[in-house]
Amino acid sequence: AHLDRIAAVDPQVNAFLHVDAETTLAQARRVDERLAAGEELGPLAGVPIAHKDVFTTTDMPTTAGSKILEGWRPPYDATVTRRLREAGLVILGKTNLDEFAMGSSTENSAYGVTRNPWDLSRIPGGSSGGSSAAVAAYEAPLSTGTDTGGSIRQPAAVTGIVGMKPTYGGSSRYGLIAFASSLDTPGPFARTVLDAALLHEAFSGHDALDSTSIDAAVPRVAEAAREGDVAGLRIGVVKEFGGDGYQPGVLARFRETVELLESLGAKVVEVSCPSFTTALPAYYLIAPSECSSNLARFDAMRYGLRVGDDGTRSAEEVMALTRAQGFGPEVKRRIILGTYALSSGYYDAYYGQAQKVRTLIARDFEAAFHQVDVLVSPTTPTTAFPIGERADDPMAMYLADLCTIPTNLAGNAAISVPCGLADEDGLPVGLQIMAPVLGDDRCYRVGAAVER
Ligand code: GLN
Repeated sequence: AHLDRIAAVDPQVNAFLHVDAETTLAQARRVDERLAAGEELGPLAGVPIAHKDVFTTTDMPTTAGSKILEGWRPPYDATVTRRLREAGLVILGKTNLDEFAMGSSTENSAYGVTRNPWDLSRIPGGSSGGSSAAVAAYEAPLSTGTDTGGSIRQPAAVTGIVGMKPTYGGSSRYGLIAFASSLDTPGPFARTVLDAALLHEAFSGHDALDSTSIDAAVPRVAEAAREGDVAGLRIGVVKEFGGDGYQPGVLARFRETVELLESLGAKVVEVSCPSFTTALPAYYLIAPSECSSNLARFDAMRYGLRVGDDGTRSAEEVMALTRAQGFGPEVKRRIILGTYALSSGYYDAYYGQAQKVRTLIARDFEAAFHQVDVLVSPTTPTTAFPIGERADDPMAMYLADLCTIPTNLAGNAAISVPCGLADEDGLPVGLQIMAPVLGDDRCYRVGAAVER
């Protein structure tokens, strides 16, 4: 049914970069055989899923939305992919994204834009916009994404679905094509909070193949989603997120949702996190710095595209030609920015300074979580914007992640859940719920209360 749905709507939505019915159906038959043989596969056995095309898959290509990886076949599965296969989920295909996950609209993909199923003239968010659109358009019941600065929560918000950024290190980065390694976090998309929690549990937990993986029990997120009880819970409204630059319809739905939580017995207070206003500039030094280092591996020798290798050119020339043609403009902007920020003589002024700001943000969270159990804010300042509106204005594009970035810099958990439609345009609004490191269950508990 999902393959039929993809065939019917994906020519308009363009959520998928790769769909292969034969491979999908073969996987489904294999799950049937395992179940028939009496294997215990868990609650999601047989459920179809779409993977963001940054997770490696041995039976499907992996492009990261870039020309430079065109034609590359990964020799191994990402841990997220492998664990979900083992749990019996069936892969429908690979979804579109901003090249190397750099963007907030999926317009930076080398393979065309993805459209928001609510309004095809608008963006589905990004960078995991293919994954959010696929779930919102009923092409897939579940999908995976990655969140480096907001790339799960912001697309979830603007397509009216649930998207979770787990605690950093709670989900494995092994086999995830790296953008900014100290921030990248795999997470689930679903149409309900409980579905997201079940998917979260199915791929999370310690992985010896990722040196930053946390060796601790996975928070009991499905249980929290089933309970959804917020009586007595202390909820902090982040004072710095709201006001100028926020769409009135987003703020109206946000305020109503906070009142709803209060009526369910939560204690609501305002909390100030002054360093959060400096998160965006700090992120745009740290993320490009790490990307400039990570993307050095695309040297025209190891993966995918190779341009101009006709026997007359040196390895350096082939590398330069390949990178010039293989990377898009946003990726090049970030590599240049990051190389500059890391260069000797500037390191302390830019990267070093940004790392200090990062510590201040983590301290703001720490102080806040002494007062409250969770923090809430709108997920993103506006609803889905029109395709093309911010394409030539990187600063305007970067502002889509104003409210999500502090969580990435501090490494804690946060979810976006739908909280109604904005009056101005009838488009979905997301509530962001932020919890401490390994407090992922609190995100699901509050999210489930809002959903009911
Ligand atoms: N939009 C942010 C960026 O462009 C975040 C992307 C992400 O989370 N992958 O870097």
